[in-house]
Amino acid sequence: MTSGSTKPLPALKTSYVDLFYVHAISNIDEMGGHWREWAAKQKQAGKIKFFGFSSHNNMEACLEGAAKLDFIDAVMVAYNFRLMTEPAMQKALEACTKAGIGVVAMKTQGGGPVKSDSQAELDMAGRFLEKGFTDKQAKLKAIWENPAIASVCSQMPNLTILSANVAAARDATALARQDIEALARFAADTRGDYCAGCAAVCSAALGGSLPVADVMRAMMYARDYGEPALARELYASLPERLRRADGSLDVAAAEAACPRGLAIAAIMAEAATLLA
Ligand code: SF4
Repeated sequence: MTSGSTKPLPALKTSYVDLFYVHAISNIDEMGGHWREWAAKQKQAGKIKFFGFSSHNNMEACLEGAAKLDFIDAVMVAYNFRLMTEPAMQKALEACTKAGIGVVAMKTQGGGPVKSDSQAELDMAGRFLEKGFTDKQAKLKAIWENPAIASVCSQMPNLTILSANVAAARDATALARQDIEALARFAADTRGDYCAGCAAVCSAALGGSLPVADVMRAMMYARDYGEPALARELYASLPERLRRADGSLDVAAAEAACPRGLAIAAIMAEAATLLA
C-alpha cells in the first residue's frame, strides 16, 4: 500500500493492518516528508501496528538509512544467496539489527533477467537432491539460517511450491558449511546473470534518470518467474527512451559501470522485443 489514505481498509475487509509498507522505494529520502507523522497517526488510531517500506533497488543504502530513522519497524528487501555474501549487505543488515528493525527477505530464489541453464546450476541442484531437498529449498534455508532476517516473503503461485516451502520450513536439518559454499560458488559462476539492484550505479552512468534496473527486474519476471503479464506491466511503466527497440539509447557506460558485468544492451534489446 502506498496511499496515505486508510480507505483501502474496507476493501481489504479489515479494520487494521499489522504491517504497512510503502512500496518499492529506491532512496531513503522517499521516507522523508509526511511519513513519520502519518505512521504515528495511523498507529494511534489503531489502523496499523507496524510501519516500514519495501525496496528492490539500492537496498543496502535504504537499509542503512532506515537504521538511522526512528519510525521504521520493518523493511522488506530483495535478499538471497547471491546477496548474502556481499559485505555492503551484511553491514546494512547489522545496522538494522542494532536498530531493532525487522528485515523481511523477498526475491529469495535469486532469479535474474537471464535464465541460466548452466552446468553449474544442474550440479548444484543434483548436490542438494542427494541430500533430500531441492536447490530451491536450500536457497530458503540459507536465508532462514541468518538471524538478521526476521521472515521470508515467498511467492507461492501453486500447491507444489507451497508444499515444497512448507516441507523446507518443517525440516530442521541445517545446511552444512559445504552447502553454503556450493551456493556461493554457484552465485559466483553465474554472477552476470543476476541484477543486484544497485540501480544508482547504472542510472548514474546514463545521466541519473533512467531506471535500467527496472528493465532487468521486468526481464526477471518474464524469464525467471514466468510471469509475462507482470513483466509487461512493469515494462510499460518505464520511460519511453528505455523501451526503444531501435538501439538508439547507448548503454555502454552503464555496462562498463555494472559491477556484475550484466549484458545490459542485449537484455534491453530482448526486453524491447519480448515485453513491448
Ligand atoms: S549496475 Fe548492473 S547489477 Fe546494478 S542495478 Fe544496474 S544492471 Fe543491475
